[in-house]
Formats: sequence, C-alpha cells, structure tokens
Amino acid sequence: MSLSKDFVSSCLTSVADPVRGKDLVSSGALQWVSACDTYASIRLHMPASAGRAVFDQVAQLSHAKLSQVAQRNGSKVDSFIVEFVDDAGAVLHTARFGGMVAAGSSGTATPTSQSDRPEAGPSGAMGSAGAAGSPAASGHTPIPGLQPTNRPAGAGLPGVKHIIAVGAGKGGVGKSSISLNLAVGLARKGHAVGLLDGDIYGPSMPTMLGLAPLEQAVLNGKLQPFYIHGIKAITIGKLVDADRPLIWRGPMAHGAFKQLTEQTQWGELDYLIIDLPPGTGDIALTMAQSLALTGAVVVCTPQKVALDDAIRAARMFQQLNIEVLGVVENMSSFVGDDGKVYDIFGKGGAEVMAQRLGVPFIGSVPITMSLRANSDNGDPTANFTGTDPAGMRLKASLESLVQNLESQIALGAMRSGREKPVLTIS
Ligand code: ADP
Repeated sequence: MSLSKDFVSSCLTSVADPVRGKDLVSSGALQWVSACDTYASIRLHMPASAGRAVFDQVAQLSHAKLSQVAQRNGSKVDSFIVEFVDDAGAVLHTARFGGMVAAGSSGTATPTSQSDRPEAGPSGAMGSAGAAGSPAASGHTPIPGLQPTNRPAGAGLPGVKHIIAVGAGKGGVGKSSISLNLAVGLARKGHAVGLLDGDIYGPSMPTMLGLAPLEQAVLNGKLQPFYIHGIKAITIGKLVDADRPLIWRGPMAHGAFKQLTEQTQWGELDYLIIDLPPGTGDIALTMAQSLALTGAVVVCTPQKVALDDAIRAARMFQQLNIEVLGVVENMSSFVGDDGKVYDIFGKGGAEVMAQRLGVPFIGSVPITMSLRANSDNGDPTANFTGTDPAGMRLKASLESLVQNLESQIALGAMRSGREKPVLTIS
C-alpha cells in the first residue's frame, strides 16, 4: 500500500502537540502534507521557543506512529521529513528519517537535521540491504527484464559524483531543452555526463537526442544508457509505447523513476542531470526527494505568471533542503537570424526573482529558430557550433550557463564539505 496524505494526517491525530495540548491535527500545527509511495513530508507550525529538543521529540513520535500504522497496513515508510516553521513560514528545524540518513542507519528513529545531511556520491549509502522496498513490494509496476535493487531511498548512485535535478514550475518553459544543453555543454568541457529524462508525462529526449532508430539495450538486468552526443542518456520514452499517452499514478511514476535511476548502468559520471517532471506536485517532489542531490536548477521564462510558478518550484527544493544552484531564464528574448534581439516577454524578471529568493541566477537563453530546429532534428551539439549571428549568440549564452553551473556546483560542494578547496602555491 502506498502512503497517502489522508493516511499521514490520520496518523498524526494520535500524536500530541506539546505546545497547545491537543493532537497535531486538531491543534492546527499540521500545515502541509505530501505523500507518495513510501515517502512522506509534513510541515508543522511551532513557536521557536519550543526548542530543538521538543522539535526532535515531536518528529520522532510522528515518525514512530506513521511507521507503526503503515506496517500494520502492510506498507512502510522509507523517507519521512518533518519541517518546523514559525508564524512567518521560516523554517526553524528539519528532521529527516530514512532517505537522506547515512548508510546503515536507514529506518532508525534518529532524526537528522539539515546540517547532518550525508554526502551524495560514490561513497554514499549504497548496499544497505532491506532499507528500500523492491518495486514489487511497494506496488510499483516494474519495467520488464530489470532486476530489483535494495538501494536505500535518498542515497547517491555508485560512481556518480554529482546529481543535479532540473525542475520548472510548469511545462513548456524549456526545462528539457535546458537539461539537455547543460548535459551536452558539460560533456563538451570534458566531463563524464549522464542525462536522465525523468519527465515521465512528456519524455522529449527520444526526439531531442535523435534516438528513434536505436533500441534500448538491457544487459545483465541493467539498462544500458544510450551513448550519444558525448553523453550517456536514458529516457522512459524508449521504454513505453510512444503513441500512448503516459498516464501515471503517483506510485507507478515513482517506481518507474526509481528503476530508471537505479537500474541504469551509468558507470563513472561527474554529473548526472535529471530532467524532472514539471510542476511542484507530489511526483516531482518525491522524485527530488528520492536521491541525494547536489542541488537543483530551476528553469523559467520571463513572464510574470511563469515566474510565480518558478518561485513555487524553487521553494519546493528549499523545503526539501535541496540547494538551488541556479535559476535559468529561458526564452529570455528572441534572436532573429540576423542576430537582432527582441525582448518579447520583457527579459530580466528571473534575475530579480532569483535575487529575491537569495539563489544564484546562472544565465539566460534566447529563443532562436536554430535551438528549436536542432531539438526537433535530435542534434543538440549543433547548438554549440553555430557560426551565424543567432547561432553564435546561442552558443555564447549556453557556454556561459554551463560555466556558471559548474562554478555553483563547485561552491555548493565546498559549502556542504563534500569537497575541500585546494590551494596551490608555486
Ligand atoms: P519543457 O521541458 O519545459 O516542457 P521543452 O524543452 O520540451 O519544454 O521545450 C518546449 C518546446 O520549446 C520545444 O519544441 C523546444 O524545442 C522549444 N524551445 C525551448 N526553449 C527554446 C529556445 N530557447 N528557443 C527556441 N525554442 C525553444
């Protein structure tokens, strides 16, 4: 059985609110619940004066109750996040169970705060058997021919240094185009890069990468990524019938995503770029939560409505304690074939938004005829080789974007203690 919002809320009706004296639901402490598959997050309103010890106690009791009732119903809780916020919505404390907890400790009742978050990457929490359910056990629809894994939820992937999610508040803003160009751009700088098309509702990578004539290979129960345009890529679009609309229930979608990430033979990668489904619904949220990410990139367009959606996307990542490495403004302007620039939507809004949110703005990409055509032709490399005025502008903006993302990843890794700066004296 998969966890649901109602199920989580009903469990919390028997956990006491130590501040107001009732249970967490009737006291009004419970502000928000998200649940999908074996993942759940809640937000509780508490005064800062309650203090860390009380926060941890409430989180532990909530986790214990949820796990206990879930187990009784034949389900389980792989990841549970409790966020405590004050009147203004500022996060006072975050407790995590399972998921992001370090190897060997998954499923324990000891919460970890944000600063306790373990590293992603090859030395992460692989191989701790029994922590995550097999797809069959958790109600997923397994992709035929693949072997289930016992990888703990929220861990890194073996051999992968940095996992970067690319999200957007809504569809159609160019999230897949930016994911692909970031991947190809990083590969052109000599990095080993993987791209996972997790946009299960509208996988566009088969077209954008030109995968139509190629067959998906499975070797020893592992999906073999396509090695194309200098990157390794995998997409749900090559595993399902392209002509049938992709309608997924949350747990199915989550299961398919898990299989794509965990059962692909990625080999050694510097960066794995994940194109998330659009929006801030449960699916994007649980996908972002199910892997230890180095950080996330938010793609938006300059219109006011699109920016409002992008703010929600950035906040979603922040609520999950995933660092927003950068905001990208796509379709920032239109560049004609003659190189002339038209600010159709009024560019620059995303930069202001990023400033307001206190997250880095890493660049803007113009609308060009060539980017659209190169995507339709499955030739992303051509975005980096244009010699006409519009093509040169596109190339420059993409290269600057890639450069800025690289810097933000390096800074983020240093901030989290994952990598140490090296001082060379000569
Ligand atoms: P999303 O992943 O957000 O749904 P896509 O990346 O699939 O969006 O882009 C939607 C459409 O817009 C695609 O046809 C793509 O080629 C086109 N597109 C995206 N960004 C640009 C751009 N900067 N210039 C021209 N076309 C673009």
